Amino acid sequence: MKKVRLILGDQLNYRHSWYKAVDDNTTYLIMEMKQETGYVLHHAQKLIAFFAAMYNFATWLRRKGHRVIHFKINDPENRQSLIENITYVMNVCGATLFEYQLPDEYRLDQQLIQWCKHNAIDYKVYDTEHFLSRREQLAEFFGKRQPLMETFYRDMRRRYGILMAGDQPEEGRWNFDTDNRAAWKEQEPVPPALQQHHDYRTIWQEIEKAGIESFGQNKADNFPWPTGRRQSLIILDYFIQKLLPAFGKYQDAMHTQQRYFFHSRLSFAMNTKMLSPLEVIQKAEQAYRTGNAPVAAVEGFIRQILGWREYMRGLYWAHMPAFSQKNFFSHANPLPGWYWTGQTRMNCLHHCITQSLEDAYAHHIQRLMITGNFALLAGIDPAAVDAWYLGIYIDAIEWVEITNTRGMSQYADGGITGTKPYVSSAAYIHRMSNYCNKCHYNYKLKTGKQACPFNSLYWDFFDRHRSLLEKNPRIGMVYRTWDKMQPAAKAALLQQAATYQEQIEEL
Ligand SMILES: Cc1cc2nc3c(=O)[nH]c(=O)nc-3n(C[C@H](O)[C@H](O)[C@H](O)COP(=O)(O)OP(=O)(O)OC[C@H]3O[C@@H](n4cnc5c(N)ncnc54)[C@H](O)[C@@H]3O)c2cc1C
Ligand code: SF4
Repeated sequence: MKKVRLILGDQLNYRHSWYKAVDDNTTYLIMEMKQETGYVLHHAQKLIAFFAAMYNFATWLRRKGHRVIHFKINDPENRQSLIENITYVMNVCGATLFEYQLPDEYRLDQQLIQWCKHNAIDYKVYDTEHFLSRREQLAEFFGKRQPLMETFYRDMRRRYGILMAGDQPEEGRWNFDTDNRAAWKEQEPVPPALQQHHDYRTIWQEIEKAGIESFGQNKADNFPWPTGRRQSLIILDYFIQKLLPAFGKYQDAMHTQQRYFFHSRLSFAMNTKMLSPLEVIQKAEQAYRTGNAPVAAVEGFIRQILGWREYMRGLYWAHMPAFSQKNFFSHANPLPGWYWTGQTRMNCLHHCITQSLEDAYAHHIQRLMITGNFALLAGIDPAAVDAWYLGIYIDAIEWVEITNTRGMSQYADGGITGTKPYVSSAAYIHRMSNYCNKCHYNYKLKTGKQACPFNSLYWDFFDRHRSLLEKNPRIGMVYRTWDKMQPAAKAALLQQAATYQEQIEEL
């Protein structure tokens, strides 16, 4: 029986059991498609990275002797749509069986379910053999009563025996968060980021020839991201040896001289499945067991992957498609134009956005407490915020983007992901970064022309959403402080926020 097996762009799992045996009746189908390049405006590096990683994967499969059809974006047979291409290839191959791995994106999952349902052809669905929790287990975990992230994470630690001493957590603690999160004051040297140096100018020319729109720097002549398994392992080993020992300590730090600090930059390699989360976790654990990294750093890193990454996926499948429409605060303001250029006098935003345009990367706290924080305080429509995050970051795939953006960062889900909105005034940004030192605005001022916009927008946010937030036990303190302020001071803050909202494009 002839069969076609579909491989989506984020299903580049080199160790999947599919590839163990070579079979002449099986054709693997990999496709660059306008359907995928056009559903949101993508960063140029994101387009190149996916196309290059798919090309490398197809080449690897062919070398192993597998039959592969790899549609390049400008191939004449390429119908540019998932379903039309599958239909065409099934006919060309004379296939009667269609097989695919569970997509991680709801949109693609639905397309395939519908097509298989309305088609007379036999089909079979496989696991991607990537995540530590299987789709059906997620329904069980998140079905009736959603666990807190910490409960979920501890359960995963026990289940996989990660950082455990018998049935107790290693060194007696589940969570070393309080040991982490220092500001960086240039006191500790940061090893240089390991960049790769690919020449992907041909891929970029094909993207341009196809008329695909994009934004951000393409860096095609000296492309820095890993796009294959071997390259991903090099980045992983470098991280474990050089960066992991100080990972936790400066996890939240931001600085104009440092873009990556001790972050791993492994999200693209993991999200495309070139690296498995378990191998990354096990290497980190081994560094602890061999005395090469302290428990606080290793636990902090493992929590991001075994905890947050798996947890976000659970939330996604438990709450989609409704999640993508959530707008708890009914925010409807447009995204300021400078999110696409970095041209703002607010130094923190200028720095984080410019870096994102140049690198297709920002670390977690830059995403959460700078760009996300401002968008939430300014009442930006979460759909516009989602589209921006989904486009700009190299690692942005909806299951992990939307849960972080609409959920964690914008609180548009009303508390499904987090227990309170992640917002701050300038004080936090000043404490965790040096951005305020060279800013047009003054982080200490709340009103007046030089006042930092975060300060008045912060109070305006809490004031206008009082009915939605004041009963939240984690926020009570904010309202007690607000209520103690003099009426004139409150009015001045709200007036300042209104002025900044009117002038938002000029900030
Ligand atoms: C608004 C917003 C949007 C985000 N969008 C994405 C996205 O589209 N894709 C994405 O992979 N991550 C996203 N994140 C989570 C996180 O910021 C990135 O995973 C991380 O910055 C990637 O860089 P790194 O590989 O250097 O991570 P490190 O700091 O080295 O962390 C190690 C790994 O942990 C995982 N991780 C860390 N935090 C999270 C998290 N909150 N959720 C899921 N996994 C996590 C990632 O796989 C990451 O590679 C977003 C966060 C925010 C606040
Ligand atoms: S003063 Fe305000 S706008 Fe400027 S860098 Fe600091 S927090 Fe950002």
